[in-house]
Amino acid sequence: MKILVIGGGGREHAMAWRLSRSPRVQTVYVAPGNGGTARDESLKNVALTDIGELVAFALAEKVAFTVVGPEAPLAAGVVDAFRAAGLRIFGPTQAAAQLESSKDYAKAFMMRHSIPTAAYRTFTDPAEAKAYIAEQGAPIVIKADGLAAGKGVVVAATIQEAEQAVDHMLGDGAFGSAGARVVIEECLQGEEASFIVMCDGKNVLALATSQDHKRLLDGDQGPNTGGMGAYSPAPVVSPALHNRIMREVIQPTVAGMARDGLPYTGFLYAGLMIGGGADASRPLKVLEFNCRMGDPETQPIMMRIKSDFARVFELALEGRLDEADIEWDRRCALGVVMAAKDYPATPRTGDLIDRVAPDTDDVTVFHAGTALRDGALRTSGGRVLCVTALGDSLRRAQAAAYDAVAQTHFDGQQFRGDIGWRALPAATSTP
Ligand code: AMP
Repeated sequence: MKILVIGGGGREHAMAWRLSRSPRVQTVYVAPGNGGTARDESLKNVALTDIGELVAFALAEKVAFTVVGPEAPLAAGVVDAFRAAGLRIFGPTQAAAQLESSKDYAKAFMMRHSIPTAAYRTFTDPAEAKAYIAEQGAPIVIKADGLAAGKGVVVAATIQEAEQAVDHMLGDGAFGSAGARVVIEECLQGEEASFIVMCDGKNVLALATSQDHKRLLDGDQGPNTGGMGAYSPAPVVSPALHNRIMREVIQPTVAGMARDGLPYTGFLYAGLMIGGGADASRPLKVLEFNCRMGDPETQPIMMRIKSDFARVFELALEGRLDEADIEWDRRCALGVVMAAKDYPATPRTGDLIDRVAPDTDDVTVFHAGTALRDGALRTSGGRVLCVTALGDSLRRAQAAAYDAVAQTHFDGQQFRGDIGWRALPAATSTP
């Protein structure tokens, strides 16, 4: 069978790589793909991003099903267009994707269905927003309503910083229509974890847990980024918490969407804040929903899948996820993102990637912002590579990943030296 993966980042390289290892898969097309998917003989890049052209391609090539990586095509209605053409595609409809594409929609949804989240209010008027900030005090969190490529959230330590964020979003129109409304919410404390499931409208299959690293610099310092590294599993999500997240967050979300007439199909990603205390009583709140997998969380998660992943998608597309099961590699996986010079503000592109660690059974270098030009691999985006390794413990996975990072090079490269730090004491105690 032929499969189409839409997207061109590290997440899509990892999904396409895993799918290409399924025994019944003949070809995995990646649209538009990147330099890494271009070099992988089991994958084929397709230079298309327009939804109408993607539909025509999938029909012409008789692809068995399509998987959507990023949020933008979902918010633009790619699933609706494929379904209208009679094609099978895994992802939420445009209306259901509002769980990610509108923070105001997501917050109202959570309130309506009693899903735990930070207290909030939504504003379009800067003066009213500032009055609310003055009443609530700092720290406080300001979020642009719409998609802002991971840059629409300001965790303000002071009232002044919060007011500046409001002026930036509502006054200056920094995010265009995405920032025409802002959500202002209570600042939560605790440890973050990503919980990702696959949904078929009614059944849910949880993927392995993971944890990313949003800040650019070691020790979680510096500006927010798309993510500088990730590992799986995330020991913070104990089996007891896993059950609570399913019961208190995931099941009510899937049931709520169905009740609202928008049955949820696709990946559902809950970004969670987990407070301190005993597992049975730790405060558990949803920071955000994404309607796709995370990048770079996908990279370590794909390294750990041992089952036929294409089969899992087929069951999901038939509404039979209750029959699906994923066998996970018991080892840990850890990915280190190598980013371009001056990422995230103004990443430089065009640098020659002169060395890339060879892929082995336990190490895979997933590409993101890379392009193959005249046989040479060059940087073409902010996050360039995600060097991902398996190991018997998180520490061993970390050591293997950093060994491979040392064998990889391009001018101006930046990477964190401490991916996995939060989980290391807990992970090393379990072999
Ligand atoms: P979001 O896109 O909503 O997940 O926000 C991006 C990041 O901002 C999260 O990963 C958190 O680190 C932080 N954040 C978002 N909402 C809150 C909140 N209510 N309290 C504290 N930190 C938050």
